[in-house]
Amino acid sequence: MEINTVQDEQIQDLLKKVKQARDTFLGYPVSKDFDFSELNEFLKYPINNLGDPFEDSTYKVHTHEMEKEVINFFASFFRANPKDYWGYVTNGGSESNLYGLYIARELYPKAMVYYSESTHYSVKKNIHLLNISSITIRSQENGEIDYQDLESTLQLNRHIPAIILTTFGTTMMEAKDDVSKVKGILKKLAIQDHYIHCDAALSGCYGPFIEPRIPFDFQDGADSISISGHKFIGSPFPSGVIITKRTLKDRISKGISYIGSYDTTITGSRNGHSPLFLWYAIKKLGIEGLEKRYQHCEETASYCVDRLTALGIKAWRNEKAITVVFPKVSQAIKEKWQLATEDVSHLICMPNVTKKQIDEFIEDLMIENALEENKILNNILC
Ligand SMILES: *Cc1c(COP(=O)(O)O)cnc(C)c1O
Repeated sequence: MEINTVQDEQIQDLLKKVKQARDTFLGYPVSKDFDFSELNEFLKYPINNLGDPFEDSTYKVHTHEMEKEVINFFASFFRANPKDYWGYVTNGGSESNLYGLYIARELYPKAMVYYSESTHYSVKKNIHLLNISSITIRSQENGEIDYQDLESTLQLNRHIPAIILTTFGTTMMEAKDDVSKVKGILKKLAIQDHYIHCDAALSGCYGPFIEPRIPFDFQDGADSISISGHKFIGSPFPSGVIITKRTLKDRISKGISYIGSYDTTITGSRNGHSPLFLWYAIKKLGIEGLEKRYQHCEETASYCVDRLTALGIKAWRNEKAITVVFPKVSQAIKEKWQLATEDVSHLICMPNVTKKQIDEFIEDLMIENALEENKILNNILC
């Protein structure tokens, strides 16, 4: 009995902490406005999606049907060739990036990977795991890859197959590398052996709604695209999606008799709940719902920039981005609002972020500024 009370207390305590942390949270790209309670019943089943979602397997407690629908949805969202796409639901954007790079390396074992300074940290780790050579390309001030540096670096290595890792929505500034410009450079240098993986962890889920369009998808020249499922769409646990071309994937698949399927994915056992949750979210939102969600974020970001600018703070954002960048904030504000901070700070207007929350955050900044001014004044007076 005693243990139960302690356990219960611990659970309640944790719940309180998690709730509180969720409510003052502006710095990371995670949506918090979901309701999956209709799916609670599924937590009673050992769902495991091991194997290739597009193949039959002997383990039947799975959600492969939903997983395929999720893949179909994103393949069409990213304008993949309807006759030549494949993909699966991963544990997150990092695993999706690993998969894109893995296929690329299998196709071109001697290739060089090019990625910009602003690339997500998972990419460097993945390149290390895969033991591929790589070169870092400079970023422009807004976080976008420096196309000139890319071109001159590629030119020096023209004889080596090129794997380009572009980012559609960088982690700090939500900069978007233009895939068609990258494709143009490869064409100009006549580098025929090439592969473009687009890391669209956050912005892939609203990329098609951005006007004017920023090229990033299959028709623009990408060979694979990855997203995180728990970022823009939102989910109680991390998840991701990788979409690639079936013809490329077929070159690396191996049949495994123990599971009666193809071992085409990185991990063996795979979370079978996350495809179901993603499927549910997509069904509920539809394309229109997704677009509305993005419009709301974009408006909030615009409001946030305007308010900060009015206060004399040098805030800015990349064109149509939902991430607002401003000079580094104090440790106290950073901790309270959980703001990711490198040499600048940022705030991400995710779907659940409201103007009211922006106002509260700005209030905190103003109080702090007033205190600072008082301190300076006191110092002068003393
Ligand atoms: C978040 C993020 C990732 C990693 O995704 P996870 O789902 O956290 O594994 C990769 N790239 C970019 C640009 C990201 O923002």
